[in-house]
Amino acid sequence: MTAPLLPADQAHALDRAADIIRAGGLVGMPTETVYGLAADAGQGDAVARLYAAKGRPRFNPLISHVTDIAMAERLAHIPPLARRLMEEFWPGPMTLVLPRRDTAPVSELATAGLDTLALRAPRHPAARALIARLDRPLVAPSANPSGGVSPTTAQHVLDGLGTKIDLVLDGGPCPVGLESTVIAVGTSTETDQATLLRPGGLDRNVIEAVTGPLARAGDGHAPASPGMLKSHYAPNAPVRLNARTVKPDEVWLGFGDIAGDLNLSARGDLAEAASHLFAYLRKLDADGARRIAVAPIPPTGLGEAINDRLRRAAAPKDASELDIDPA
Ligand code: AMP
Ligand code: MG
Repeated sequence: MTAPLLPADQAHALDRAADIIRAGGLVGMPTETVYGLAADAGQGDAVARLYAAKGRPRFNPLISHVTDIAMAERLAHIPPLARRLMEEFWPGPMTLVLPRRDTAPVSELATAGLDTLALRAPRHPAARALIARLDRPLVAPSANPSGGVSPTTAQHVLDGLGTKIDLVLDGGPCPVGLESTVIAVGTSTETDQATLLRPGGLDRNVIEAVTGPLARAGDGHAPASPGMLKSHYAPNAPVRLNARTVKPDEVWLGFGDIAGDLNLSARGDLAEAASHLFAYLRKLDADGARRIAVAPIPPTGLGEAINDRLRRAAAPKDASELDIDPA
C-alpha cells in the first residue's frame, strides 16, 4: 500500500501526522532544505524502522529537529558560540552538533551511541507545527532510499519510499533544496571552536561572519562527521563534473551561460541552482539519461555545498560505501 498524501498546511493533516509519529510511525515531512522522514527521536523502534526504510547504515547518526532554542536546551549543552549561531540563524538550514544531555529523549540508535547530538530548528511552517504538536525532538533524515538523490517534492518521497512509510505531508517544493550546513561547536578541546562538518543550505561565509574562520572536519583535533559517504546523492546515470562540452551519449545539466539540456539557473544564481539540483538530477534519470554531464558550478557561497553534493553524486558507487570522507 502506498502512503497517503495530505496537504501540509491543514490542521487535520498535522494532527494525523502527530498521531502516527506518537504511535512509532514514519511521516514524510517538508522542510525548507529537503523532505525529511520524520520519526520520534526517543522511540528506538521507530528509529530502527526508519533506518530499515531508508536502507541507511546504522553508524550514521541522525539530526534531531526542534522548534527553538528553549527546546534545544532540554537536549544539549549550549556553549555561548552555539547560542549566538542559533539566535542568528534559527529557524533555518543550519545544524549544530553539541554535547548531549543524559536526559535528552533521543535514542542511542538515533545518535549512533555518540555523546554528541546534532540539532536543527527547521524554518518550514509544517515541520515547526508538527514538532510543536508533539513537543518531542523528531529525527528527519532525507526521505529517500540511502545513497540516492534527496527528495525536494512530496512526489519524490512517494517515488522512493511510498510503500515503506505511513504518510506524506505535501508542502510543495523545498525552497532551499540542499541539506543543512552542519557545524560542531564545543565538541573539541577548544570549546568555542566551530568546525564545518558538512557544507549545506546556509552559506559558510554567512556563518563565519559570526564564528570567524571555521575549522574543517579532520583538521587536527576537529571532530569528523560520521556518515559523510563518498558516494551519496547519486542518480542512476553516471555523472561527469565540470563539463564545458558534452559527449554524444550524455545529457548536459547546465548553469549560467552553459545552457545544456536543462539549466540549473540561466541567470547563474546559486540559490536557484541549489533549489533545482536534486529535482533536475531525478528528471534526467527519469528521462532515461545514460550519462549526465554537469557544467562547472563556481565554488563560492552556496556553490560549496552544490559542488559537495555533485562530487558525491559522481563518486563510484561500489568501492566507497563505507568510506568516511569529511571533506
Ligand atoms: P542527514 O540526516 O542525512 O541530513 O545527515 C545528517 C548529518 O549530520 C550526517 O552527515 C551526520 O554524519 C551528521 N551528524 C549527525 N549527528 C552527528 C554527531 N553527533 N556528530 C557529528 N555529525 C553528526
Ligand atoms: Mg540523505
